[in-house]
Amino acid sequence: MNTAIDSSYSPDVVVIGGGIAGLQSALDLADQGMSVLVVERNASIGGHMIELSKVFPTLDCASCITTPKMSAAAHHPNIQILTYTEVEAIESIEEHHVVRLLQKPTYVNFDKCIGCRLCEYACDTEYPDPFEQGLGSVRAIAVPFTNAIPQKAVLDAEHCGTCGTCARVCPTGAIEFDQQPRRLSIHTDAVILATGFQLNAVTIKPQYHASLSRDIISPLTLERLLAPHGPYGRVLRPSDGKIPSSVAFVQCAGSRDESIGVPYCSRVCCMYAIKQAMLLSGALPLADITIYYMDIRAFGKGYEQFYQNAKAMGINFVRGKVARIQPVDGSDLSVLVETTEDAENPMQEHRHDLVVLAQGMVPGWNPKGIVNADCAGDGFVATPQLTAPTATTAPGIFVAGAAAGPKDIVDSIAEAGAAAMQVSEYLYQKRSLTTVG
Ligand SMILES: Cc1cc2nc3c(=O)[nH]c(=O)nc-3n(C[C@H](O)[C@H](O)[C@H](O)COP(=O)(O)OP(=O)(O)OC[C@H]3O[C@@H](n4cnc5c(N)ncnc54)[C@H](O)[C@@H]3O)c2cc1C
Repeated sequence: MNTAIDSSYSPDVVVIGGGIAGLQSALDLADQGMSVLVVERNASIGGHMIELSKVFPTLDCASCITTPKMSAAAHHPNIQILTYTEVEAIESIEEHHVVRLLQKPTYVNFDKCIGCRLCEYACDTEYPDPFEQGLGSVRAIAVPFTNAIPQKAVLDAEHCGTCGTCARVCPTGAIEFDQQPRRLSIHTDAVILATGFQLNAVTIKPQYHASLSRDIISPLTLERLLAPHGPYGRVLRPSDGKIPSSVAFVQCAGSRDESIGVPYCSRVCCMYAIKQAMLLSGALPLADITIYYMDIRAFGKGYEQFYQNAKAMGINFVRGKVARIQPVDGSDLSVLVETTEDAENPMQEHRHDLVVLAQGMVPGWNPKGIVNADCAGDGFVATPQLTAPTATTAPGIFVAGAAAGPKDIVDSIAEAGAAAMQVSEYLYQKRSLTTVG
């Protein structure tokens, strides 16, 4: 637990969420001389971007881009970071905000922990690794992942066998089994909500039967399978460890669908499916790869060319809507698609041995009852001013990245810069008025 920060600390700005948007806003503000507190509920900053293998449209290594940003934020003299910390409430009194935080116990004293991982190596209790989407395992006390920031061990109380081995091997006496949750109240003049997104459940469409097969997977699981340091070091089927020979991507599996309450487009699914298909065809040159899609929304700079490149590489694109997915014959998956490409025979059944569902992006956090800012009908933070796209309905509270709606990395970073600029202007005006008054 990081106890260096207490309620006497009152930064200029509090950024909620340590994903790429939150980190970019924090760095832009800190470079202007403002003090910034980044609050992250996970044990490491980095958000979803640190979980990705490579990124469209450049196919750059995701962690090679994210890790320097994480490190720059962690080492910036004007930025403080609190991980493993939840926001309980943001109380706004006129234009001043009190951010009430709950810091969860890590059972490790961060001032003493040197990140040597001796506790992790000695621990003999394992559970499915959340960073690897449940593939592979992690010890009950561990540094969350290789390039996590902070590089500090965190003990998972739910899985700990309380054998005490970690405390015995720790060379600095950092293990503290008696740690308690800590509450802090941080006073600040501005808040940026950068709480990102999560994917809706892989089981959200019962007709896709994801609960019946471990080979109907989430796109984040495929990101980890494709990552060079992923759970298996190569792409294998989760159910039996076989190399897949026919992979299907089912688009709009959790978006653009009134029946599951997500009528909007999640925007990035077409592009990440194309990226993953390209990476897969490099990793599995003998595999057939098919993308079932309604439309391809290649909306950004260079994206259309990226799509054309995928077609030229031999990725098979089938236009239509997948009606049903079902495990058959032990290890195969039957995909029933209604295609618009064959008027004579629109309902077609194809067999695959791995299926990736493009789940919908939904808000990463529900701020209702916690913060004064309104949400739009889709649940994401509302941004009512067309000419100030990062302003919310609450004065002094701004939003950046996927917290305001589904977005790719480029747009999240651009919006984070815009939010930082709006905060800076807001604080300048507020403080000038106070000085004149
Ligand atoms: C499978 C997949 C592949 C993708 N591939 C690409 C790609 O190749 N190229 C591309 O441009 N985009 C890609 N994207 C989109 C990309 O992931 C997002 O654009 C980006 O992660 C948005 O960043 P963010 O910081 O807004 O949100 P997030 O990455 O979601 O970060 C939000 C952070 O806020 C934290 N948080 C949430 N609520 C709270 C709270 N209450 N208190 C404290 N902390 C909180 C979360 O733990 C998280 O760390 C992909 C998305 C998916 C699903």
